[in-house]
Amino acid sequence: MNTFHIWTIGCQMNKADSERLESALEQLGLRQTSQAADADVVVLNSCVVRQSAEDKVVGTLGFMGPWKRQRPDRVLALMGCMVGAKTDALEAKFPQVDLFLRPQQYGPLLDLVGQRLGLDWQGCVGSLAPVHPKVTCYVPIIHGCDLMCTFCIIPFRRGRQASRPLDEIAREVELLVDRGVKEVTLLGQTVDAYGHDLPDRPDLADLLRRLNDVPGLARIRFLTSHPSYMSQRIIRAVADLPKVCEHINLPVQAGDDDVLQRMRRPYSQAQYRELVGSIREAVPGVSMSTDIIVGFPGESEAQYRRSLELVAELRFDKVHCAAYSTRPGTAAARNLEDDVSPEEKSRRLHEMDQLQEGILGEINATLVGQDVEVLVEGRKKGKWHGRTRTDKLVFFDDPADRLGQLVNVTIQRASPWSFQASVVLPRTESRSVASASLGA
Ligand code: SF4
Repeated sequence: MNTFHIWTIGCQMNKADSERLESALEQLGLRQTSQAADADVVVLNSCVVRQSAEDKVVGTLGFMGPWKRQRPDRVLALMGCMVGAKTDALEAKFPQVDLFLRPQQYGPLLDLVGQRLGLDWQGCVGSLAPVHPKVTCYVPIIHGCDLMCTFCIIPFRRGRQASRPLDEIAREVELLVDRGVKEVTLLGQTVDAYGHDLPDRPDLADLLRRLNDVPGLARIRFLTSHPSYMSQRIIRAVADLPKVCEHINLPVQAGDDDVLQRMRRPYSQAQYRELVGSIREAVPGVSMSTDIIVGFPGESEAQYRRSLELVAELRFDKVHCAAYSTRPGTAAARNLEDDVSPEEKSRRLHEMDQLQEGILGEINATLVGQDVEVLVEGRKKGKWHGRTRTDKLVFFDDPADRLGQLVNVTIQRASPWSFQASVVLPRTESRSVASASLGA
């Protein structure tokens, strides 16, 4: 047993869970391979938040049947939100799977790998922080969710809110910086609820202040925020702390109060608008993104239009829009009829996407000619790419090695999804270039 492969679908939290399992398996001496076919251990980290994601997991499980039959000694594990407290139905449906692991339940897999290798994994595995992190890294700070939105399966899979101690997170971020990380994104299903369940009740603002002092760390982001937990203290921290980026993801889900109530979202559209206003007032230039569901049970045309109006008025930098799909096990699946037709849901989704694309094109066009700071994350098709503090994707040419650097660039061209830019040369560099030209 030498190699492993982890296949991941879904949200950033799933990606972070996979990175942490990867770290544990590497500490046990296994090597990661990019092809599932070559691996001795394959983990499918699943998502069931949308039907399309669940369909992909089921399809991939189907492919893995022959792989397992070929060499039954290999290990196949299904992890993540597809796995609930009871696994009988999954066991019957997917006999090729050896282990069913709930989100972050790494223990049974590590036990099995440890047994095969003759190792006590608890003695071998230390911090789960990624061993070979990239320039940017996810850091889960709070697990689970207490809010029980009627459409959402996550609380039933990830359990109730549980925050990690502040000191433990700070130590992990210091370790990541030692390993080359320049930017961390603090993760939670309701990241702004951080600390409410801890003994001395620190909050996200306290954590941001602590991490802002970590030497070598350049940037801090956090997601996903819930409007009910977004406090003035957190907004103040974003405004005051130089390392905290001016970007907030604040899902609204619907622009109509009756729909919000049926979703069990504990705020009104007016309160949401007010909150966005206060964030924009306190944090000039902040970019904001949101999530919206169209075609929720009982959503009339007029109610859907109120979501469109909200998007048109608030002009977000990003809107993650999805058509409602019934998730078995949720309150909406039990109590609400999925009565908006698939064609109507597609029409609403398309219209919302078109509206947002136009808005984003206009917002991004205003950035052309501006100088912005980019943290360089990698290289694609011969160009460096990175993100601005406001989470915009920028590409630029430069012969120098810029990986992991903060680079000032001038935006030359904009599209709704990314920017092309050129490097702003430091004053001294531009002077020497200028005098060299004059000399010629
Ligand atoms: S806040 Fe609502 S949508 Fe978000 S994870 Fe919790 S239950 Fe799901």
